[in-house]
Amino acid sequence: MIFSSITNALTFDVEDYFQVSAFEKVVDRSQWNNFPSRVENNTDRILSILDEAGVKATFFVLGWVGERYPKLVRRIHEGGHEVACHGYSHRLVYEQSATEFREETSRAKYLLEDIVGEEVPGYRAASYSIVRSSLWALDILAECGFRYDSSIFPIRHDRYGIPDAPRFPHQIQLRSGASLIEFPISTADVWGMKIPVAGGGYFRLLPYGITKFGLSRINQKDKQAFVFYLHPWELDPEQPRIAASVISRFRHYTNLKRCEARLSGLLRTYRFAAMRDVLGRQTETLDQVLYEGGAVPGKVIRVCSNGGEK
Ligand SMILES: [Zn+2]
Repeated sequence: MIFSSITNALTFDVEDYFQVSAFEKVVDRSQWNNFPSRVENNTDRILSILDEAGVKATFFVLGWVGERYPKLVRRIHEGGHEVACHGYSHRLVYEQSATEFREETSRAKYLLEDIVGEEVPGYRAASYSIVRSSLWALDILAECGFRYDSSIFPIRHDRYGIPDAPRFPHQIQLRSGASLIEFPISTADVWGMKIPVAGGGYFRLLPYGITKFGLSRINQKDKQAFVFYLHPWELDPEQPRIAASVISRFRHYTNLKRCEARLSGLLRTYRFAAMRDVLGRQTETLDQVLYEGGAVPGKVIRVCSNGGEK
């Protein structure tokens, strides 16, 4: 039974099990070619689950993956799904210089656009690494021609997050005069606490009931669309194990077996579409938010659509 009439954004970050940030210290990028790749089969599995459910989604594809598996990118596109950009090398944004970020992000965007033969308007950073110190990246995304970003996680975490960033889609006004739509990773507000319920490790680690409670609350109480995300490797309990720290292994391997059934349950419970389609329905009504990005990272100022400060 579908829970609400609100259409939510369903997203997948298309990368392989050995490319995740949690394993960055134990798997050097120069070794990526040596690992048996599973991203193609795992993404195909997702495509058939979505086909059965009649749901379209957004796939943020890593440039490295797109370069090696262009036919996979074409299958995503031909299935009526949205192809979006997850950068090229999965390096965290705040560990790159502006020049490096511009180079690798435009490389990935053009590479994906060449494969699908149309514009790739959406971007998501590796591990949500657009944080307070890397807000300058938003200017570069606008320069590269992206129309929307989904990299800001309004939460406190050891690797990412801007805890006081707006929780729902809004239009970012940049100092340069350019603008960009932001669809932040969803959090549920439960008695003043922001609970991460939008997918990934939280979806696998927390009891399923908490995710459902949180997501329903966003649709019902906030009357907003949420974004949900997963990675192809999260539906692959057979993936080779990597010797990383106890915490990284806990976050990566817990409940992989349960993930596919939970995803199918979610598709039966909520209405979903690709992110560009969810945003397309509400562009007119978005709050405008001024971000102090550029050379002066830091403060986020909220400005109402009528120009008054909140
Ligand atoms: Zn990623």
